[in-house]
Amino acid sequence: MMGGQDMKRVLAGDALVSVVAPMFNEVANAAPFTEEVLQALDALQLACPYELVLVDDGSWDGTTEALDALAVQHAGKLRVVHLTRNFGLAAAVSAGLDHARGSVVILMDADHQDDPAAFKPFLEQWGNGFDVVYAQRTVREENPLKRAVFWLFYRAFAWVANISIPLDAGNFALLDRRVVKQLQAMPERNRYLPGLRAWVGFKQTGVPVARRGRYDKKARMRFRDLWTLGMNAVFSFSYVPLFVFRIAGLLSLMLSAGVILFALYHRLFTGKAVIAWASQLVMTSFLGGINLLGIGMIGEYIARIYDEVKARPVYIVDRVVETSRE
Ligand code: UDP
Ligand code: MG
Repeated sequence: MMGGQDMKRVLAGDALVSVVAPMFNEVANAAPFTEEVLQALDALQLACPYELVLVDDGSWDGTTEALDALAVQHAGKLRVVHLTRNFGLAAAVSAGLDHARGSVVILMDADHQDDPAAFKPFLEQWGNGFDVVYAQRTVREENPLKRAVFWLFYRAFAWVANISIPLDAGNFALLDRRVVKQLQAMPERNRYLPGLRAWVGFKQTGVPVARRGRYDKKARMRFRDLWTLGMNAVFSFSYVPLFVFRIAGLLSLMLSAGVILFALYHRLFTGKAVIAWASQLVMTSFLGGINLLGIGMIGEYIARIYDEVKARPVYIVDRVVETSRE
């Protein structure tokens, strides 16, 4: 199935296109989002059916009821997966992928930021033989600080990561069924999807997509969530934090060897006393700081090992709502 322009593949009538989106307290956008996506899918005039899988990630603002009503209204097209509590974006995405049946699966946010206009180029590139087609964000209608932080994060992460990860690509992507299968087979609890997606390999490509503004201005990912996501990205795909402390350890060893030789020389040959108080204070506090930081870094890896060993499920499903067409 792989190949360039010459190896076209098409969605046959027995294929299925799934669109998956996680929702946490998005009641005001539940209906507009659903309608926008279903309209975009209709407009594509696919040769095969499609489905929309919405994951309710423990919402408490009425999203739950709104989605149940939508499942009735759009019978036969919608599957709603309610989780037992808010498990976080990464877990909700896993739940969505597990409940999608499509031969191709398009993953997107449900907050108006990801533009369904990308479906067409996504499917075209899949037709050209690509198993992963991700949206590469050209512009972001977001506050400049957040934009700058993301810009920096993607670049710093690409630099330390032990796999090559495309820049400016988030969750918004099309995944072929065989990629979904590989992602499902990965047992890890701390899941950074753009990293895992790059890690699986296959033929991947990006298409430029402008990132729209949020329908409301309140991101559901709090600073703490973004921090966790960033930490998961770094600690799941990089050993650079450990390497940095090995280098720091090596340098401070060399430094202290120099200091010892210097002190010995003066003690034995010049008889000049070395003034030690300030330098000792500086050295001890510096090394103490480095030590604690290094232990903290190791702790990050150990906490992640602990998460894996506990082997708790990534998410828990409360109920799945699906209404057939009749
Ligand atoms: N989301 C979720 N669970 C959470 C936080 C967010 O399912 O705990 C969903 C949210 O409803 C949205 C998507 O994940 O559809 C992206 O969230 P958000 O817009 O807050 O992230 P950002 O665009 O700021 O990265
Ligand atoms: Mg968003």
